[in-house]
Amino acid sequence: MKKILPLLLAVLLSGALSAQTKQSKKTSKNSPNAAWVKNIPAEDVIKWRQHIHQNPELSFQEEQTSKYVEEVLKSLPNIEVIRPAKTSVIGVLKGGKAGKTVAFRADMDALPMQEETGLPISSKVNNVMHSCGHDAHTAMLLGTAATLSKMKDQINGTVYFIFQHAEETPPGGAIDIIKSGALKDVDAFFGMHVLPNFPAGHVGILPEGAASTAQDMFNLVIIGKGSHGSMPHLGIDPIVVGAAIVSALQSIVSRNVEPGEMTVVTIGRFQSGDAFNVIADRAELAASIRTTSEETRKLVEARTKEIIDNITKAYGATYKLDYIPTYPAIQNDAALNAQAQKSAAAILGKEQVFDAPMMTASEDFAYYKEIAPVSFVTLGIGEGAANHNPKFTVDESALQNGVKTQVQIILDYLNKR
Ligand SMILES: [Zn+2]
Ligand SMILES: [Zn+2]
Repeated sequence: MKKILPLLLAVLLSGALSAQTKQSKKTSKNSPNAAWVKNIPAEDVIKWRQHIHQNPELSFQEEQTSKYVEEVLKSLPNIEVIRPAKTSVIGVLKGGKAGKTVAFRADMDALPMQEETGLPISSKVNNVMHSCGHDAHTAMLLGTAATLSKMKDQINGTVYFIFQHAEETPPGGAIDIIKSGALKDVDAFFGMHVLPNFPAGHVGILPEGAASTAQDMFNLVIIGKGSHGSMPHLGIDPIVVGAAIVSALQSIVSRNVEPGEMTVVTIGRFQSGDAFNVIADRAELAASIRTTSEETRKLVEARTKEIIDNITKAYGATYKLDYIPTYPAIQNDAALNAQAQKSAAAILGKEQVFDAPMMTASEDFAYYKEIAPVSFVTLGIGEGAANHNPKFTVDESALQNGVKTQVQIILDYLNKR
């Protein structure tokens, strides 16, 4: 996941936290399914998380991590292990009775950055860090698998525990796993992402429909004609062309997209020229584009291409454009979302469940919707630095609630009447 905005709600929620914790304990004690909570290997979950945190691996290189996950899964009863791609792992648990098939997904990759938390469990690898919490995701899903592996007789149907590689780097790992065919029988997908600045252990239900944004990008080279700075009539100035393009692109959000629909067009790079008195012969631009519907995504792409094509023509320049679509928006299913909310409230107490705002980040979890409906939820991990920050930390006390929620969601989905 690449960028997060929600901070305000955390402040609103944190004030009432202590009273809520008391109530939620009472609620979970009264839950008819709470007997399994004692089977959650809470200490192992923290141990697994710390091991993975100290030994991070970049996208598509999760060799030791996937091996570690495979070993833990193989140590559990009733779990069959599949390797759908080189560095991803799926654990399959078949319940005592026939029923639907549900999948829960965790991602396992880290980011190319130097950890600056100063904690004793810091990354042992230079310039590689779990700064998006995928170490916590992996450990929690192992905890969920361990808990459910002892409940075979209470499960109607099949559970897939997906440990996915390469979420952080497009084209992403989800595509590889989908292509492998290993998940073709899945009826529903759930996923969970940790979020700082929400109370540790609180579960955030993202909106129905677009829960994250689609992310596309482009690289553009404008080819003009170099000249002496005092003789502009003999050249074609790519900086002037680029400036006109940058200005015109702003009209897509303000004049083409329906007001109120979250859309972003950001030109993150504009480079040209070396000297004050020389007209350069080329300029390079790069942009990040975020949208929440496929319709708008296509509209923005079409308008971007028209603007670039026509403006360069008008100025007598030429161009090379590489427009790169990456992850689509997660489209949360209404029924699955409602169930996730009910399940989280049943096991944590409704005071520890909140409505989370849409994430402006992008996530390749979105691709699983090609197979079946999806629901993505968040888990608060306390106050701290944002995801992808070198000081990002996870309050490990949140992990127990993450596992509880995952187990309850899976049981409720398979055992509903
Ligand atoms: Zn991330
Ligand atoms: Zn992430």
